[in-house]
Amino acid sequence: MPIQLLDDATIGKIAAGEVVERPASVVKELVENALDAGARRLRVELEQGGKALIRVSDDGAGMRPAELPLALARHATSKLRAFSDLDRLACYGFRGEALASIAAVSVLEIVSRAADHDHAARLRAHFGRVEPAGAVPAAPGTTITVRDLFANVPARAAFLRADVTEAGYAQRAVAACALAHPEVRVELLSDGKPVFRTDGSGRLANAAVGVLGAEVAARLIPIAGESEDQGVRVGGLIGLPSLTRGNRQQLILLVNRRWIEHKSLAFALEQAYHTLIMVGRYPVAVINLELPPDRVDVNVHPTKREVRFREERLVFATLQRAARAALMAHTPVQSVPSVVVSPLSAAGVQRRLTLADPERAGRPAPRTPARAAPAPAAASSAAPPLRVLGQVGGTYIIAEGPNGLYLIDQHAAHERVLLEELLTRLARQTPEAQRLLEPLVVELNPGQLAVFEGLRAELTHLGFELEGFGGSALAIRAVPAIMRRREPRETLLAILDEAAQGGDGLSRVEALAMTTACHSAIRAGQTLSLAEMRELVLQLEGCTAPRACAHGRPTMLHLSQTELERQFERR
Ligand code: ADP
Ligand code: MG
Repeated sequence: MPIQLLDDATIGKIAAGEVVERPASVVKELVENALDAGARRLRVELEQGGKALIRVSDDGAGMRPAELPLALARHATSKLRAFSDLDRLACYGFRGEALASIAAVSVLEIVSRAADHDHAARLRAHFGRVEPAGAVPAAPGTTITVRDLFANVPARAAFLRADVTEAGYAQRAVAACALAHPEVRVELLSDGKPVFRTDGSGRLANAAVGVLGAEVAARLIPIAGESEDQGVRVGGLIGLPSLTRGNRQQLILLVNRRWIEHKSLAFALEQAYHTLIMVGRYPVAVINLELPPDRVDVNVHPTKREVRFREERLVFATLQRAARAALMAHTPVQSVPSVVVSPLSAAGVQRRLTLADPERAGRPAPRTPARAAPAPAAASSAAPPLRVLGQVGGTYIIAEGPNGLYLIDQHAAHERVLLEELLTRLARQTPEAQRLLEPLVVELNPGQLAVFEGLRAELTHLGFELEGFGGSALAIRAVPAIMRRREPRETLLAILDEAAQGGDGLSRVEALAMTTACHSAIRAGQTLSLAEMRELVLQLEGCTAPRACAHGRPTMLHLSQTELERQFERR
């Protein structure tokens, strides 16, 4: 093919491909334009997940009739004059290409009235072809309607998911904007039905009630913090460890009120929950990061969904510290949900609790992939003083506390106690080792041998004393003191096997400490004397993060006095 200049329609379609991926991207651009225009009220309507119709109405500044055709022209913007403006940009738009791109792949209509005009102008574009403008009556503000998205780009249309899925994506975009702007009343309707609405009160907590529902919002706690140089500020709401999701959909990251996706930033937050929530579960959070515009680059991605921080580590650390402090101050003992407890026999209660707690105790607990250091908490969320009453099923300790009944998972609790002991000793470089009367020789398979070679130093730091014994054999001379009740060979092999799977994100020695704690802890099904249980509970009370085991499972469940009274119908 000879080289030719592409025609405008083709250029438009190609460019649209970058900005407009799916209905949610259109929603996001339109909502951001409305916010840039200073809207105080904003209404988003979707039909068929946005495939058939997307309409965003605002009460913002509006456009003058003469500006309308410009709004649709590529690289036409009212928000930026020179590239250097990018460093102090206070609005979302700056490329002036969103409307042009959307217009290229849809039937678009703008109705807009500037505050100082007495009528609105209307402009329509049919897959990029702009029709002559007309005047219509309308209230001040702008309404943009996008119909038949991608009808002229069948390849794109074919990639769209089911209506509900697309509606879900769009909903997330509107939710993020609503949470970024609690001072704006945002309303979302899908196929004529209200999805959510915020009150525009300016309070994030209220916006969260609107967007996430009262039940979720009730389990969010505020976080606040800033970097030492005060350049990076963190605010927002994060979920209690009891509020988790199976994915990151309800983790909303805002940087200078801009909704972004940022894997490492999300991960930094998740690390703050480390050992508090289960592996594979994700926190719910709305994070507001504020930093001077010149410390973050927003111009790195076509849809501006990614940003680059000048000092990434500083940002992560500031977020993590704020989150950790909030969690430690707020983490209550997990309550037994009332559905679990009904007026049943003790056996019934126990059976149900076992169901609620997926019978993991005693088995090698699940690995924690891609998590960071189980760092001792900055502030403590001490366990309540407890009086031990007995043991249920050889697995749970029943205790009475200041406000009701507590059930403690003996394995999880012991694992937490041992982990903290190991970590404290590690930090002080004072491992406590138990020397064996005679060295024990153990045969390693090639995998275990490789792990051993790679972890020699870490094993020593924890108190192991191991020596090559010719070929693939090892002599065990000493083990960490916490392991003394275990068969050394079997336990070492189990630890090496588990360490082979890696604990990415954790420092190697911490991953090893977790595994060692898990394999050294008393198991479920082991009968304990009253004295042993008291000792364990006492040790747990002394932990910095007593409410969760090393893997994030709860160590205790709480049945409050009030709940007891309610269940027995005393109130
Ligand atoms: P950008 O937002 O990058 O400037 P857009 O293509 O999204 O580019 O919008 C182009 C221009 O149209 C904006 O700069 C703005 O002047 C105008 N505009 C778009 N939407 C609205 C709106 N809802 N209210 C007022 N003006 C708008
Ligand atoms: Mg824009």
